Amino acid sequence: MKQILIPFWILVTLPAWAQVRVVATFTDLADITKQIGGNRVQVSSLARPQDDFHLVTPRPSMALELSRAKLFVRVGMDLDLWADDLLAAARNASILRGAPGYVDCSVGVKKLEVPTGRVDPSMGDIHIYGNPHYLFDPVNAKIAAHNILEGLKRVDPANAQVYQQNYEAFVQQVDDHVKRWQQILAPYRGTPVVVYHKSLPYFLQRFGLQELATVEPKPGIPPSPGHLREVIARMKSANCRAILLEHFRPRRFPDAIARETGAKVVVFPAAVGAEGTTSYFSMMDAMVNRVASALAGR
Ligand SMILES: [Zn+2]
Repeated sequence: MKQILIPFWILVTLPAWAQVRVVATFTDLADITKQIGGNRVQVSSLARPQDDFHLVTPRPSMALELSRAKLFVRVGMDLDLWADDLLAAARNASILRGAPGYVDCSVGVKKLEVPTGRVDPSMGDIHIYGNPHYLFDPVNAKIAAHNILEGLKRVDPANAQVYQQNYEAFVQQVDDHVKRWQQILAPYRGTPVVVYHKSLPYFLQRFGLQELATVEPKPGIPPSPGHLREVIARMKSANCRAILLEHFRPRRFPDAIARETGAKVVVFPAAVGAEGTTSYFSMMDAMVNRVASALAGR
């Protein structure tokens, strides 16, 4: 029998074309997917790190990326509703809602701030399904990772074991980090902070901090002079020492509040890739350390 010789270069390059193409809506989920998929996946993010996560502008290239994807990974709730038109334009049935290649990472997350009763325009750009910024609680990152794991197993069952092992390693890493982050923030339990937008209820709940006020009077609405005066008065009486804002916010209002109150303005990376962060863990590390430094008066 004639033996077929496979050239060595085919063996080493084989994984490259066997990789599962994954498209995530945001860089945080792209990073978590990379950690679960390892070298079995090729992941991209539709939103860029510098984008305001409420205001991502769909581009035609995004639909093209989705048309080639085997797995689509989203934050869900109403944070990436903009992706729905792109999904329709991509005409890729295997990643539509309900298909094996569709992953909504919010499934299983205990949602905060779910509106009760009617939602109307007077409430600002309120998040209609509850607060979607759940990934700032690292415990929720484990839930997202589990949803991604299930998705990868569905579209690539041959590598299920690899994904399972990587997922377990990720969970272990989260648990180790959470212990350390809780120690760093433990001295400030119950401490009031001001946030620009309601993007941190999950983070504050996990680490025992209190949201005293928001710079925005309502989601997506800039503050009036009267609202700023009220925030300043509340901060002074509560001796509030930190104003927390995402990297994509203008600093004008927080800086004005800081001048009046002596509080520190804390810009935190709200996406992997922002402020020099390279992974979900380095993003959360930066966030925890910056908040702790401000509260310590450093
Ligand atoms: Zn929001």
